[in-house]
Amino acid sequence: MTRLLLATRNTKKLEELRRILAPALPELEVVGLAEVADYLESPESGATFADNAIVKAREGAQHSGLLTVADDSGLAVDALNGMPGVLSARWAGRHGDDEANLRLVLAQLSDTPDARLGAAFVCAAALADPDGGTRVVEGRMSGRLIREKRGEHGFGYDPIFVPDGHTRTSAELPPAEKDSISHRGRALQALLPMIVAAANS
Ligand code: IMP
Repeated sequence: MTRLLLATRNTKKLEELRRILAPALPELEVVGLAEVADYLESPESGATFADNAIVKAREGAQHSGLLTVADDSGLAVDALNGMPGVLSARWAGRHGDDEANLRLVLAQLSDTPDARLGAAFVCAAALADPDGGTRVVEGRMSGRLIREKRGEHGFGYDPIFVPDGHTRTSAELPPAEKDSISHRGRALQALLPMIVAAANS
């Protein structure tokens, strides 16, 4: 069976990729970083989501010898000139402190009128093969921010983000419904034909 590495330790991302790939490539086994030999992972220091996703995918492919997918994502707020962007996970200073990150973004927008609270979640997904070939695609979910948290699903900034065409926040949407419109879901769907082609070559 061909193995594909998803260069992450996040089990939710692994499950999501398995769900997307299974129908297209039933003979492909998707493994995470926990299932390959350890290697030193570079810090996420790129200026763009695509830069970070490419570095992670290339590193994974070089060290594991497997076809590798990696992603990088975040929230881009119009009134903050696209920030927190690549700094989304550590906007308030500590990596992964979702509550502090969300509070800081809302504080920074306290004087911004509701009409200017447009934002988008963005995800870059990269595919690298051990010979050095690399591809990258981007997915977006546009919407607007609200000032009070709503919903228990999801993570990160989901409780204050209402996707376009919806009245509920992405934390109020059932996970499968969020996947079907999300930046990550869209990026992985766009990458799917390239994964299929690379896996069959
Ligand atoms: P990473 O791609 O796992 O490094 O995620 C970067 C950060 O962006 C996360 O820690 C969240 O703060 C934010 N983020 C990315 N995708 C989402 C999402 O789907 N919902 C809410 N926050 C997200």
